[in-house]
Amino acid sequence: MSTNTHFDREHIWHPYTSTLDPLPCLPVSHASGAELHLEDGTVLIDGMSSWWAAIHGYNHPALNAAAHQQIDNMSHVMFGGLTHQPAVSLCERLVAHSPAPLTQVFLADSGSVSVEVALKMAMQYWQGRGESRAQFLTLRHGYHGDTFAAMSVTDPDNSMHKLYKGFLPQHYFVPSPQSRFDGEWNPNDIQPMRDALAAHHGQLAAVILEPIVQGAGGMRFYHPEYLRQVRALCDEFDVLLIVDEIATGFGRTGKLFACDHAGISPDILCVGKALTGGYMTLAATLTTRHVADTVCSGDAGCFMHGPTFMGNPLACAVACASIDTLLESDWPQTVAHIEQQLKTGLAPARALESVADVRVLGAIGVIELTDPVNLADIQPLMTAQGIWVRPFGKLVYVMPPYCIRDDQLHQLTQGMITAIKQFFGE
Ligand code: PMP
Repeated sequence: MSTNTHFDREHIWHPYTSTLDPLPCLPVSHASGAELHLEDGTVLIDGMSSWWAAIHGYNHPALNAAAHQQIDNMSHVMFGGLTHQPAVSLCERLVAHSPAPLTQVFLADSGSVSVEVALKMAMQYWQGRGESRAQFLTLRHGYHGDTFAAMSVTDPDNSMHKLYKGFLPQHYFVPSPQSRFDGEWNPNDIQPMRDALAAHHGQLAAVILEPIVQGAGGMRFYHPEYLRQVRALCDEFDVLLIVDEIATGFGRTGKLFACDHAGISPDILCVGKALTGGYMTLAATLTTRHVADTVCSGDAGCFMHGPTFMGNPLACAVACASIDTLLESDWPQTVAHIEQQLKTGLAPARALESVADVRVLGAIGVIELTDPVNLADIQPLMTAQGIWVRPFGKLVYVMPPYCIRDDQLHQLTQGMITAIKQFFGE
């Protein structure tokens, strides 16, 4: 049976899509490995990993088996007053492999919710210490999700802030670091963060940032020294550090967590997206015993959050299989190989007039253009090359599944360059 695309167009909202003039959506019949199969028989090499999530590709036998096995036991039971091995097994893995000493795990339903949870934890932490602190400090070009509190710590100019002015809590923003990941460290980069902490630390519950890679806010890769110094400043000024690894976690940048590039550990960590290998929605907020116990020593006596689908066993079982599959593989070598191929494959784009910058980190490849592209016009050029790449603004970027083969990755990088040339008539 084919998808009723007419109904879809008339009635269903897709992400950031107008009901007045919706962009076309391609019907997918099935997906496997690094390939998306459309209903008309077209095969597209996937450059997006379903927005950073499908690290092992689609239809993975171990993840499928975990889902089948778990669904025959139970798909879901409430987590209030009940527990189960899939959640315990997942949290054991998260505690074991996340940057020490994060030992307390809160399972959330999505990345944005895990950010809300992190911000609430930070506020309740200060309540536990008898202080009222509800302000956050963050970076320009950051992105932390689409819910209200997450939006309020997302770049104010580059996001939906304008639309919700007056309704979003006001927080502090400092310029994002300019020192590139692979460039020289410029010590001036840290000054705005130091100044903001010095001025406002008495009101600040936490600093929140994406480590090393600022994703949806610009696909920027910054210097690990910045992260090290932010950690030191948070300690110096006694402010919590929340790190959002929702996009970067599970090997994407070449380290298991992007924090590992700087050898730091946050007070609160958010993970999501690739947590379930992209199979279903699940995220987690981890913190230290000290933060957790302080949160619970406040007037409320507990952490005030408890969603219906918390700790969903089906998602937890698949997440365990995804983490095991990753850790049993030689993922550092795989990601390093993809990095090398992305560097080689995207390098010719540098010669194009329409290209401002090309950068690669781990299994992330970015072509930054001089001018924004119109999605309606460039998307068909990408699919005509047999690739699934969804640019935004000036950014044409890929983060393919780690299982992508060399020939598929070659097609992906070549296809991106060809589509850009066609779009700009170069
Ligand atoms: N934080 C970061 C760094 C993200 O990239 C995203 C998703 N793009 C989110 C938070 C929000 O996650 P979700 O879409 O699962 O709510």
